[in-house]
Amino acid sequence: MTMPTALVQDNGSNNQNLDNRILIVDDDDAIRDSMQEFIERSGYTAFSAGSAEEAMELLAKEEVHVTITDIILPGRDGLELTDYIKSGYDIDVIVMTGYSGDYSYEEAINKGASDFVFKPVRFEELLLRLKRVLKERRLTKERAKMLGKLQNLAITDGLTKLYNSRHFYNQLDVEVGRCRRYKHPLALLLLDIDHFKDYNDTYGHLEGDKVLVSIGLNIQDCLRGMDSAYRYGGEEFTVILPETNGEEARTVAERIRRKIESEPHNPGEEANVAVTISVGVTEYVNGEDIAAFVQRADQAMYGSKTKGRNIVTIQY
Ligand code: GH3
Ligand code: MG
Ligand code: MG
Repeated sequence: MTMPTALVQDNGSNNQNLDNRILIVDDDDAIRDSMQEFIERSGYTAFSAGSAEEAMELLAKEEVHVTITDIILPGRDGLELTDYIKSGYDIDVIVMTGYSGDYSYEEAINKGASDFVFKPVRFEELLLRLKRVLKERRLTKERAKMLGKLQNLAITDGLTKLYNSRHFYNQLDVEVGRCRRYKHPLALLLLDIDHFKDYNDTYGHLEGDKVLVSIGLNIQDCLRGMDSAYRYGGEEFTVILPETNGEEARTVAERIRRKIESEPHNPGEEANVAVTISVGVTEYVNGEDIAAFVQRADQAMYGSKTKGRNIVTIQY
């Protein structure tokens, strides 16, 4: 039986994706037990520990999302525990304290605590604070996820899903820097589709787009873990090959060229139309700037065009 959404208790227990594992740390057995019972009755999974040390042992074994800790504990106190948790775990901390004034709100927040409650704790208030902390936690995660997606979008070519040219220049900069420092080889491929204008003119732009997608996939298929492929321009692609010299890069380029040549395309009524690419290969020359490096790959690619297309040319 499914309950109407409005009747489902809003406590985090009804959604497996929600964080709902709570650790209670208090050296007073009575408080700890009643709090654990209350938290469990509210729909959460609760753990408890009588000291910071016991809590630390438990955290090493159990996934926990929020820790509610007393400040005054035997051994390490609640602020030290908060410090420990915040430096090693993605866990929110709610700190409990008496009105004694030994510890301040500011201290707890500065250690990274998400909230603060006074003892004796009113359970209903604690529950409200816990829910607020969990909600904030969920929003923070959603924001981070969204930001990650946006960052990915900013470096991805929408059509082929390869990286875009902006990312190409950033990565080339990184790899050239590494190459200068460690004197490792670094190679670059530049690939351009042959007579692509004719293909578009004959079969239409949409069919041309399908070819771009297919070529992107075929390039990806031929690469090793460290290599990265980019849509450099309209119908041009680049591949950065770290730790690779010119000859090794030529082998990779040849593999890509053959794979693309043998891939059949079926635009409209036609079947088994072949598309080829011309490739330029070059190796980084220590000290040269990025523009010169890319330009040499481009010259090598034009060399392949003038020699009749569908070939790989290497230029040092
Ligand atoms: P070449 O063998 O000398 O490279 O000939 P080409 O026809 O491929 O070269 P040219 O530079 O004259 O034309 C490139 C063509 O690529 C023109 C354009 O229609 C096509 N093109 C560029 N970007 C896209 C795109 O995003 N989608 C499609 N379908 N075609 C594109
Ligand atoms: Mg071109
Ligand atoms: Mg072309």
